[in-house]
Amino acid sequence: MKKIQMVDLATQYQAIKSEIDSALQEVLDSSMYIGGPVVQRFQKSLETYLGAKHVIPCANGTDALQIAMMALGLKPGDEVITPSFTYIATTEVIALLGLTPVFVDVDPQTFCIDPAKIEEAITPKTKAIVPVHLYGQASNMEAIMEIANKHKLFVVEDNAQAIGSDYYFTNGEVKKLGTIGTIGCTSFFPSKNLGCYGDGGAIFTNDDKLAEELRMVANHGQKMKYRHDVVGCNSRLDALQAAVLNVKLPKLDKYIAARIRVADTYDRVLGASEKITVPHRDGKSKHVFHQYTVQLRGVDRDALQEYLASKDIPSMIYYPIPAHKQGMFASFNLSELNLPVTEELTKYVISFPIHTEMTEEQQACICSEILNFVNAN
Ligand SMILES: *Cc1c(COP(=O)(O)O)cnc(C)c1O
Repeated sequence: MKKIQMVDLATQYQAIKSEIDSALQEVLDSSMYIGGPVVQRFQKSLETYLGAKHVIPCANGTDALQIAMMALGLKPGDEVITPSFTYIATTEVIALLGLTPVFVDVDPQTFCIDPAKIEEAITPKTKAIVPVHLYGQASNMEAIMEIANKHKLFVVEDNAQAIGSDYYFTNGEVKKLGTIGTIGCTSFFPSKNLGCYGDGGAIFTNDDKLAEELRMVANHGQKMKYRHDVVGCNSRLDALQAAVLNVKLPKLDKYIAARIRVADTYDRVLGASEKITVPHRDGKSKHVFHQYTVQLRGVDRDALQEYLASKDIPSMIYYPIPAHKQGMFASFNLSELNLPVTEELTKYVISFPIHTEMTEEQQACICSEILNFVNAN
């Protein structure tokens, strides 16, 4: 049996090697490394796939979030509502731009920002909500958009972990996650559901004016060459990365289906244990399982991780320390902030290997070792 990894990018590459190699070779032969037709083709394909009017490729997912908040014209002191239970990038850019992060607790089932808690966090300074579709699970976008519309707030979806997910509105409408808010942001970090072979990211919007603003911010604040109207940054998706993504985007739905198959098996086998709560699937969206994350009760998490490691099975804690407890936010005086669900989740969640190339044999081994430990302790 092949060594089990959280994400097996090497095996995935082997399966698509000839396509990838020739796509990369095409870029090398063209010597168009920055911009050019390969990047343009990816932009158009992603627009079509998402049903988004504009895709603005950029250098990584963190930049995507930063550029989004810059293009919205958010100013120091403006408050941005976001979950604390997320990857640090979401919250870091808020502070970087001099904005004030307002951390709101998450829903105990979806692990995404709890809409019921958003409204009580709104003040006259609130300008935006940044929901994170954590582990591939959608935030409750219908409720969030209702609140945002009522209070005239921007919504920036952090879709780094959920690209390709469909969101089902109660009126029957279906939209790709990331295209519902004012702006959507994603990352093409190699281990993400749509990953390139380096860094990459993209921003989506249906608003023409905002798209122009986003492109300008990502390109040194310029619309016309050597005319810089606003302070911007330099954030580009390079052609080699776009070439990889051009090969992988048409396979995204197949990759998602493979992840869901792995999740279904985990649900069935691990869900049988009373000590394991498997991921919630409420039918509001298609969970695309960037991570397969369960909650443990009555299980020593550290000991389980150690036991699995001794059997060559990796596991991860996403995330052990919530954002509001990080030193980088010390100046915001958050020690009194009470986010009980977030704090509980940081203690009880654990993520098991999930990727597009997992074999039944590997998964059977993972499941039996988890249950061995859980049932014996
Ligand atoms: C990965 C990730 C990011 C940042 O993406 P990078 O490409 O690594 O900059 C932002 N938010 C979330 C939720 C992520 O998982």
